[in-house]
Amino acid sequence: MSVEQELKVDNEEKQRRKLINEMQIVFEAKPENEGFARTAVAAFVAPLNPTMDELADVKTAVSEAVTNCVIHGYEMQGGKIFLDAAIWDRILVVSVTDEGCGIADIEKAREPMFTTRPEWERSGMGFSFMEAFMDAVEVESSPGRGTRVLMQKEIR
Ligand code: ATP
Ligand code: MG
Repeated sequence: MSVEQELKVDNEEKQRRKLINEMQIVFEAKPENEGFARTAVAAFVAPLNPTMDELADVKTAVSEAVTNCVIHGYEMQGGKIFLDAAIWDRILVVSVTDEGCGIADIEKAREPMFTTRPEWERSGMGFSFMEAFMDAVEVESSPGRGTRVLMQKEIR
């Protein structure tokens, strides 16, 4: 399902909102592409004139999600990352998807300070940052098939 169909508002509100723009990018799961992904989303949302804080929040959230695909989803072996974004009136909806190893226990993975990679000096705070900086975060995953993180934020 595409991001524009997944805006997390009730149906009535959905009908009042207008789809302003959408984009899809596929790129390689390399650490150097974290910067590319966050800059791409920043440029995409720029027409809404976000504040510096809003922009920083969005960039950080996207960066955390992409980093997770690179290091956890594909375990540093590479693969494709799918970045989808849409703007509904003033709401940015972004999804970051990989076709990597997936997450067995999503609830556990989302807990602050939970990490499966303490040996790589991860602190287990990625999902907590995404939740703190965005209005809503949803995680879909199946082991062996991949993970999708869907986030949205209203730009006021
Ligand atoms: P930090 O983000 O602070 O460096 P972290 O990446 O371990 O540490 P989170 O981003 O909160 O912390 O992720 C928690 C856990 O969820 C990870 O340790 C990993 O086990 C799992 N996880 C997150 N994203 C993915 C993904 N795309 N594919 C597979 N597992 C994931
Ligand atoms: Mg992380």
